[in-house]
Amino acid sequence: MDYLLDEQQLMVRDMVRAFAAEQVAPGAADRDRSGEFPTELFAELGELGLLGMMVPDQYGGAEMDVVTYLVSVEELAYADASVAVGMSVTNSVCCWPIVKFGSETLCRRFLPELASGQALGGFMLTEPHAGSDAAALTTRYRDEGDHWILNGAKAWITNGVVGRYFVCLATADPSLGAKGISAFVVDAQQDGVVFNKPEEKMGLRASKTCMVSLEEARVDKDALLGEEGQGFKVALATLDHSRLGIAAQAVGISRAAFDEALRYARDRQQFGKSIISHQAIAFRLAEMDTELAAARALLWTAAQASEKLRRHSRDSARAKLYASEMCNRVVEWAVQVHGGYGYSKEYPVERLYRDARVTTIYEGTSEVQKMVIARALVDEAAQL
Ligand SMILES: Cc1cc2nc3c(=O)[nH]c(=O)nc-3n(C[C@H](O)[C@H](O)[C@H](O)COP(=O)(O)OP(=O)(O)OC[C@H]3O[C@@H](n4cnc5c(N)ncnc54)[C@H](O)[C@@H]3O)c2cc1C
Repeated sequence: MDYLLDEQQLMVRDMVRAFAAEQVAPGAADRDRSGEFPTELFAELGELGLLGMMVPDQYGGAEMDVVTYLVSVEELAYADASVAVGMSVTNSVCCWPIVKFGSETLCRRFLPELASGQALGGFMLTEPHAGSDAAALTTRYRDEGDHWILNGAKAWITNGVVGRYFVCLATADPSLGAKGISAFVVDAQQDGVVFNKPEEKMGLRASKTCMVSLEEARVDKDALLGEEGQGFKVALATLDHSRLGIAAQAVGISRAAFDEALRYARDRQQFGKSIISHQAIAFRLAEMDTELAAARALLWTAAQASEKLRRHSRDSARAKLYASEMCNRVVEWAVQVHGGYGYSKEYPVERLYRDARVTTIYEGTSEVQKMVIARALVDEAAQL
């Protein structure tokens, strides 16, 4: 599908591909085992301009288009999905809403550090009792004159411990529902932000995911994104955008699994010939190849929608739903093509299988994506 990319996009893709092959892929299996966060790699991603990819040049960003960002996520996920998610989260759920909804002062204060990799970013929406039903969040904020004070607990926060700036959703009063929610940029180095021990996860083991307690956490008065009470809209717009990054991560994991399966099917001999010569295996690879291309096409179409349309919830949900479900099918087939060896940690498909699993869960489960698409269909049906 290279022909769909322009010269600039191909140049960035090749640069990220080379960096990922030389610097990211070699340590991926070790980091999966140790759970070590690759701090130096993130410093290099910052130097390469990959942490503020859609941030305007005036704030130290690379000011690139959405497809270039997605292609970069895919390349990093091909090498190590843990690195891809940390990079994607900084770009899409932290830098993006600050650019879109932050004041000039906020942009100048936070974006140069985020874009250069001096600080990593994240997003604090989920709570222990508010996941898919995010509007039910109970983290409270109150106005203290020259600053805000936040209290509550956030769950499953990517880049927890290792990140510094987090877009955080809190409510003035839970009984107001979505209308009570505002969005803030929280500096994790301020008093009152306490990260718990990172979760022991099935996959993405080198990405840090934590529960966070906000205990009288102080937030500067001007660190509000959009208007007070508009935070849920900020969150939904951010998710519409960030879901594309997760879809790109799913495409990258799938491509890695596909390449491993293709190589193994070529080399593995059974019944006197390589297993790719058995039509059942060849057809399976043909299906994997087709599904991968379909997911990427849907993703790049959704990226165009995100650049051209004011609302693109349905396009993003379709891309995320399809790419993440496809990813889980492809990694499962890749393990099957490897037979018993696919069940061994000696082969990368074992890690890819575990890393893939979360793609249908975070930034909205597959069921939530179907709810978004179905809502658009109901609206459309009302117009018929
Ligand atoms: C590794 C990881 C990283 C994460 N990073 C972040 C992060 O950085 N920031 C952040 O804010 N959150 C993050 N999350 C949280 C993630 O977005 C949530 O886990 C996800 O939104 C689902 O919420 P939940 O886990 O509470 O599941 P629940 O909402 O409790 O859902 C449980 C099941 O019920 C289904 N379900 C729920 N409601 C309905 C319905 N109405 N109809 C049909 N089915 C339904 C769901 O689809 C799911 O299958 C992360 C999660 C993980 C695992």
